[in-house]
Amino acid sequence: MQPISFRKSGVNVTDLSSQLWCEKQLEFSLYLGKEKTKEMIQGEKIHEDLQKEVVDIIEVSPLTFHDFLALKLINMNEAINILLSQGLIREIPVLGKINKIFIKGMIDELIIKENKIMLLDTKTRHSDSMPSKEQVISAEFQLTLYKFLLDNLKKGNFNYIHFMKYYNLRYNHQISDEFSKELNLEDKNIMSLAKKTFLRFKELPEISDDLVLRYRYKDNIIKEHNFIFNQEKFIEIYNFIEEYWLEKRPALRTQDLWKCNHCEFKQRCYNEES
Ligand code: SF4
Repeated sequence: MQPISFRKSGVNVTDLSSQLWCEKQLEFSLYLGKEKTKEMIQGEKIHEDLQKEVVDIIEVSPLTFHDFLALKLINMNEAINILLSQGLIREIPVLGKINKIFIKGMIDELIIKENKIMLLDTKTRHSDSMPSKEQVISAEFQLTLYKFLLDNLKKGNFNYIHFMKYYNLRYNHQISDEFSKELNLEDKNIMSLAKKTFLRFKELPEISDDLVLRYRYKDNIIKEHNFIFNQEKFIEIYNFIEEYWLEKRPALRTQDLWKCNHCEFKQRCYNEES
């Protein structure tokens, strides 16, 4: 099975950034699945609590594939509304296509500062220590990728036509009656919703090249790591990462053997290699 066939609705930003940690580990998680650890569940809860500080989360019931896509578009639209009116939004869905891969993800936080948008990513730690250099490299790439996707949405390089094409949508596809009623939608046409939503990205102010990784332990921020977007470096790393998804090369094992001590696939990986 091709790796891309595990991600029919789009490769996750986190899939791509995890390749910088260990590509072979990502491959095992694609083919065998990955158990959620206690730490991951705690991290999700912290992100949800942070989101609730700026928005009211409303549970809704999409019924069809088109409803799920509509929900993604509505969430994007709403995120832009809140960002422009309050200057801050958390958990913003973004998507796009880079070279041959369709990518989707969720930006942790956008802030408007001095009329520029700043991207922030929050990493939850299990102690008050700072992460390893390798963890920071992977996190920097993740945030850089979000910035690249958001830039492309703002510039219209990824627009409703690309969205329609990727999801095989026709001009007459509709959101279900039940879901549009639940959300009080006047227009049930998915193309018109996509068209309106993607145009909204043009309303955003300039997106800053300053990126911020924020490390938290429980309720405290341990440290903020600031760095500058470097497009040339990003493209170089991205092209290398993409080769795996296009099956131009097999998954590579990390050279940092200490990482294997934290890997749930260690036994299988070492057996396969010997
Ligand atoms: S055991 Fe090591 S090399 Fe193998 S998948 Fe895990 S981290 Fe990667």
